[in-house]
Amino acid sequence: MKAEILSIGTELLMGELTDTNASWIAGQLPALGIRLQWVSILGDDLEQLTEAFSRGLQRSDVIFTTGGLGPTQDDLTREAVAAALGETPTVQQEVVENLERYFAGRGIAMPSHNIKQAHLIPSATFVQNRNGTAPGWWVESAGRIIVCMPGPPGEMQPIWHEEVAPRLRDMVDEEVTVTRNIKTLGMSEAAIDEEIAEFFGHENPYLGIYSKADGIHLRVIARAKDEETARQMIVPVEAAITDRLGPYIWGYDAETPEEAAGQALSEAGLTLATMESCSGGFLANSITDIAGSHRYYRGGIVATSTRMLLANGVPAHVLEEHGVVSQETATAMAQAAKECLDADYGVAITGVLGPDPQEDQPVGQVYIAIAGRESAAQLQFRTPPRRIVIKRRVANTALTELRKLVVAEKGRYE
Ligand code: AMP
Ligand code: MG
Repeated sequence: MKAEILSIGTELLMGELTDTNASWIAGQLPALGIRLQWVSILGDDLEQLTEAFSRGLQRSDVIFTTGGLGPTQDDLTREAVAAALGETPTVQQEVVENLERYFAGRGIAMPSHNIKQAHLIPSATFVQNRNGTAPGWWVESAGRIIVCMPGPPGEMQPIWHEEVAPRLRDMVDEEVTVTRNIKTLGMSEAAIDEEIAEFFGHENPYLGIYSKADGIHLRVIARAKDEETARQMIVPVEAAITDRLGPYIWGYDAETPEEAAGQALSEAGLTLATMESCSGGFLANSITDIAGSHRYYRGGIVATSTRMLLANGVPAHVLEEHGVVSQETATAMAQAAKECLDADYGVAITGVLGPDPQEDQPVGQVYIAIAGRESAAQLQFRTPPRRIVIKRRVANTALTELRKLVVAEKGRYE
């Protein structure tokens, strides 16, 4: 089945909004056995949209769209589908009532413009949207399918999982592709390559190796007649990789370092405090991206000056003897954070963010320290000298190291 995606909205063309919907949908298609061939970005222009649908109906089996389903005059996706198919939209009374109930629930009368969202053409059925006013459209005409979904990712993604993917799964009968992503940190690409050499160079399952901001990722890709069979093909490869790289693996698939660390802390029932300098709060921000992090995260200090370090319990003699950017200071920071907030773990970051070298150390030089319950971890390395890269790498590494220590100490305590 050949597919294309139309991302609709003038703000996408103006560079005001990044098209994350298309890449998200693209990521969902291989496991369904759907082959994506085109992605287009289109403005809110009826003529161009109609033309895109007409062309899409000729070259693709299925067209996915996001955006342009709002109540305002510039939202024209429905009108363009109707025009391309030569059909006339009519108002569906039950949907008008649904919309009126939705607005009544918020204590307001329905704006008259919203009537637009209750229109349907004969080839279309509504796709329910639990998180907004715009229902999607599922259109079938002459063996082609058009799926129109609202633009906000928080509405589109649940619609996809609940309504769209199940229908597609029932319809598509083609080879599917399943991917398993295994994330490591602490081993070089070359060392990994050597350790699991015999799995490279095969077609199915295929093993790829990629260097990312949070370490080296191994991607096992299997193709088979259905998802379950493809998953089974991945099992022995994953087992061997886990066996050989075990301590270096920190997560799988879409898992992030902050999720992995948070989960380890939650499972151990332990708490965390942080003190960071060159990462400027990036570490605290990552940790608090995780829902429920308040249960294990006692808080963090962003210390961008010596004064702040002193005020939060880092001993003056450590700073004088070793400087702010040093392993000794990182260790003292981790200990101070842990004690100050009476946490089980203290994590600290110090380093040189730039633009100039500091204390004779180059931009990108970073130190991490973790004070654990009975052991500690220290780490230093150099990242490329770009501010956001430094912040991201050092925070990711601190979180994966934290996870490793929490898991190791948990094993020792049990
Ligand atoms: P619309 O359905 O066109 O009114 O879009 C409503 C909102 O959805 C936009 O303002 C964006 O916040 C979001 N949105 C629309 N299209 C996309 C897209 N392709 N990628 C990410 N967000 C989008
Ligand atoms: Mg729009």
